[in-house]
Amino acid sequence: MPEPVVTTRTNFIRQIIDEDLAAGRHARIATRFPPEPNGYLHIGHAKSIVLNFGLAQDYPGTCNLRFDDTNPHKENREFVEAIKADVRWLGYDWGERVYFASDYFEQLYGFAVELIEKGLAYVCDLSAEEIREYRGTLTVPGRDSPCRDRPVAENLALFRRMRAGEFPDGTRTLRARIDMASPNINLRDPVLYRIRHGVIHHQTGSEWCLYPTYDYTHPISDALEGITHSLCTLEFEDHRPLYDWCIDHVSVPCKPRQIEFSRLNLEYTVMSKRRLTQLVDEGHVQGWDDPRLPTIAGLRRRGYTPTAIRTFCDRIGVTKSDNLVEMAMLESAIRDDLDASAPRRMAVLRPLKVIIETLPADHSESLEAANHPKDATQGIRQIPFTREIYIDREDFAEDPPKGFKRLVPGGEVRLRYGYVIRCEAVVKDETGAVVALRASHDPATLGANPEGRKVKGVIHWVPAAEAPAAEVRLYDRLFQVSEPGSDGRDFREDIHPASLVVIDGARVEPALAGAQPGERFQFEREGYFVVDPDSSAERLCFNRTVGLRDSWGKAQGR
Ligand code: ATP
Ligand code: MG
Repeated sequence: MPEPVVTTRTNFIRQIIDEDLAAGRHARIATRFPPEPNGYLHIGHAKSIVLNFGLAQDYPGTCNLRFDDTNPHKENREFVEAIKADVRWLGYDWGERVYFASDYFEQLYGFAVELIEKGLAYVCDLSAEEIREYRGTLTVPGRDSPCRDRPVAENLALFRRMRAGEFPDGTRTLRARIDMASPNINLRDPVLYRIRHGVIHHQTGSEWCLYPTYDYTHPISDALEGITHSLCTLEFEDHRPLYDWCIDHVSVPCKPRQIEFSRLNLEYTVMSKRRLTQLVDEGHVQGWDDPRLPTIAGLRRRGYTPTAIRTFCDRIGVTKSDNLVEMAMLESAIRDDLDASAPRRMAVLRPLKVIIETLPADHSESLEAANHPKDATQGIRQIPFTREIYIDREDFAEDPPKGFKRLVPGGEVRLRYGYVIRCEAVVKDETGAVVALRASHDPATLGANPEGRKVKGVIHWVPAAEAPAAEVRLYDRLFQVSEPGSDGRDFREDIHPASLVVIDGARVEPALAGAQPGERFQFEREGYFVVDPDSSAERLCFNRTVGLRDSWGKAQGR
């Protein structure tokens, strides 16, 4: 397990909690993370997870995992299990405290009866469209439903019959009786219950044909669990009066406080579950764990570590102002983590054979290489040096651009951890394509500067016969614009056509044979890579997590 990041940065929520604790309003804090199981978690959820579980760890207190499962139509068990796995992978433990809003359906029903009895809720016969029409607008007050003054007894009877399944979908709702003229539209007699026949709920099966709305369920679930601080994103700010109204008018044991913070928006990606679902269902990506997605499962497969994600969340902080976070921030968090931890290896992505003619055919020498330049505890490995090696095609240029420091005809370069070699001849096929290089080596240059001349370039290489072949997947940003779908475009038009480049015939150093899925490495001069779950002993498969530096802007000509 990686070390947890100690989130000590203060923020306005911590200040509120400090005040509440100092004033004796609570002895301990209780938070919750309330995902709806209608998709996989993404990096935005990670912000909320790190915040909620982080507060519970630091203060200390408790943090519940609560599935907000009031919309069975789009939810399922696969999502429930994936969410649990992702929260756990991020390093958080809810212990016994996993709940489902559906656990409270019976109690919620009872509270609805209580509201009816108090004259604070009524059964409404308007259709969804009529309700919308009656609701008014920001400038026009709403109109009362003709059912608003229905007698309590009639409401109770109708509500019971709604539960018993006597009415078809859409024919009746239960609504709070608040204020149709309220300047806050959320308070204009919001719907508390809808009829939904024929859906099988992943937790409650077909027990219910009546489902409570989020706005009604959420505050009561919080109160039933004794949540002290209910943290949610800014778009719920206008719902807070309704949140408070629900808690104030039913007999719940405590009064949680809703506090809103700004959601994470990240450049070059999308985070709405509707859009993510479209990307997955329409096959724009290869599944919820596609390494190009901002999902936790995708980031994990991409090679991100829980530490990097927590560090990122800590660095972006928690505020009330909306902003768009640069992808570079996420990338620098994983670079920082992997720079410190990932063993170094050599991998040649586009192999070009070099025959070192000054070596005998059976030459084999073991060269020693440190696994990590700054961490001696990671030890060393041996790399066989043989007459035939591979270098990267991009490290050779017949006609070099100005300033090219790598191999050129007649020029010299140092092989990393090895000797200086000189390119003596270029071997071409009948089409004129370079197929190999003939070279010589200077035996006096192992760990020593060459006599009387300077060799600037250092390139990586692998021994030809002993280097396992590998598939290497180079991932780039999934979208080519920073805000996909802005200016009224369909966000799918902004998908980056080359967001995945698969390199089939890479060759990697022998120390990588047998690398297991999830192992991470720095491929020298190339970037950080992780072994993909598709990898096998016969065929290694690596995903590029991130390049060594932020070269994206440059590559796009920005
Ligand atoms: P969507 O609106 O795309 O369906 P959601 O926000 O409704 O997503 P939930 O499963 O309801 O998804 O979210 C669970 C929790 O995670 C909520 O408390 C929500 O506020 C928080 N959350 C979701 N997205 C973000 C984000 N981008 N940044 C911070 N917190 C987020
Ligand atoms: Mg939601």
